[in-house]
Order: sequence, then structure tokens, then C-alpha cells
Amino acid sequence: MVRLSDSPIQPVTWSQAEKYGVTIDIKRDDLIHPIVTGNKWRKLKYLLMDAQNKKCRQIVSMGGNWSNHLHALAFAGNSLGIKTRAFVRAHQNQALTPTLRDCQRWGMTLQFCTRSDYELLRKDSHWARWQNRFPDSYWIGEGGFSELAIQGVSDMSREVQEAYDYIFTGCGSGATLCGLARAFPETRIVGVAAFSGAEYLKSEIQAYLGKLTNWFLDTKHHCGGFAKSSELLLKLQSELESKNEFRLDTVYNTKTFLALNSWIEEGYITKSNKVLVIHTGGLQGERVTPTDK
Ligand SMILES: *Cc1c(COP(=O)(O)O)cnc(C)c1O
Repeated sequence: MVRLSDSPIQPVTWSQAEKYGVTIDIKRDDLIHPIVTGNKWRKLKYLLMDAQNKKCRQIVSMGGNWSNHLHALAFAGNSLGIKTRAFVRAHQNQALTPTLRDCQRWGMTLQFCTRSDYELLRKDSHWARWQNRFPDSYWIGEGGFSELAIQGVSDMSREVQEAYDYIFTGCGSGATLCGLARAFPETRIVGVAAFSGAEYLKSEIQAYLGKLTNWFLDTKHHCGGFAKSSELLLKLQSELESKNEFRLDTVYNTKTFLALNSWIEEGYITKSNKVLVIHTGGLQGERVTPTDK
């Protein structure tokens, strides 16, 4: 069984926060479990239970070479005795990344596919064409955006006692943002898009959350695209890591702080505001320099 603990909330030491008199805490979801860290466990929890209840023979999903999602899924599947398979956009003869090597070690079957097949699979409807080949499978689309994933994230409300003015989180599919917006209706939730061109997500999230308006999608701090970096980003990562006990991945979490940096500087977040940052994990993907991705 995959055992997970509530993650601790810790104060963040940061010159920017001191300068403007803002209080910043971090919820260490990177400490939930040594392997299945961050929001990926929260998102998978009910999906795995659902697959078990439906007596599915295997879970099929998809992801990139450095996917935190596949990494968590492979480990959790292995621990729970559920078979896993993943479509991966890579060539069979290509050297596997440490992420995919782990996945394989935990029994995940890697189904290599072409770029165009991968693109098609992004539309869930395309999965129907594969389904006959893998009967009794449980499909989790890219990013795992789903009601069950969002419910899993919302459970976090039980672990946060204090009232925050803002909660900041990294954003890919938007599921984590949606879960937080629902769980903390009195708090403004800011999702920081980790990739460029994320504006389209706004209408999807809006459609999902309906009347809830306590959220904002920040699309300005992706540093040029997914897994892209900048000097400012690396400088910020190094300052925060030197003053605190945590490490930050550059793909999601440092970008979250980069956005927070601007929100403070531009006066949206003001003196005596209290901010909670969710550390969404992702450190397994840092096993090489981000420019190799
Ligand atoms: C997947 C992921 C996110 C984004 O979560 P979504 O629910 O897809 O928006 C953020 N941070 C890390 C480290 C992730 O792996």
C-alpha cells in the first residue's frame, strides 16, 4: 500500500517577502512520500481507487520523457498491484531518461509512439481507437484532468487550518488549480502556467468551476515555454534554496515563485498579506539539467 502523510506547512525565508512585509508559507507536498511526491499523488488517489473498483486489468496513460505523472503512476500501480502502461513520445531505440527507467523498473509497459499519434491521443476521443487493443483498461488522459483528480486535490482543505489571502500553485492541466479553488473558496488561488500559450486553459477552468471566481491563471511566467529557464529563474531558485530547507524544480515550482515575485513587486499582494505556496514536487525530473529536456 502507498502510505502518505499530511504534508507540513513551513515559513519561507525570502528577501522579497521581507522587503514588502508579506508572510509566505510553503506546503511541502514534496514530502508526502519519498517517491510519489507532490500533487501527483493527490490527483491519482481516487483514480486508482476507481480503477480498482471497476476491476480494470490495467491503467493506461500518457506522458513525456520526464513525466512526474507517469513516475508517480508507475510506482503507485506497482505498490497496489495494478498493471500500468503508458504511451510515450519517444523512439524505442532512444536511451531512456531516468524517469522512464524508473517507470520500467516498477513494471510499467512503455508504449512508444510517434509525435503525431501522441498529439492525437491528447484528445481523449482518440483513445477509443486503441481501447479494443487493451480491453478492460482504465484510461487517464494527459495531465489527468478529471473530476476525481480534482476531488483528490480538494481534500487538502483538511490540512490547512490558517486563513490565507492567496494560494499559489504551479499549473499544467489546471486540475490542481481547480481543486484548490473549490477547497478554499475564501482564498484567491493563483495558478502559474508552466508553458507558453496557456490562455486557452482559462475557458476550460472557467467552464469547470462555474460560478467560482476566486482563481486566476498567470500566463506570464513560463520563461519561454515548458522546461525553459532564464537567468532570473535560476537566481531565484538559488536564493530560495540557500535560505530554506527545500529544493525547487525549475519546471513548475521556481516559476511559481517567479510569478509571486512579480505579484508582490507590482503591488497586487500587499503588506501583511498571507500567502501559501504549494510545493507540488517534481524533483525527480531535475536529475539532469533542464536544458537537456
Ligand atoms: C503536474 C505538475 C503540476 C501541474 O499540475 P496540474 O494539476 O496538471 O495543473 C505542477 N507541479 C508539478 C511538479 C507537477 O508535476
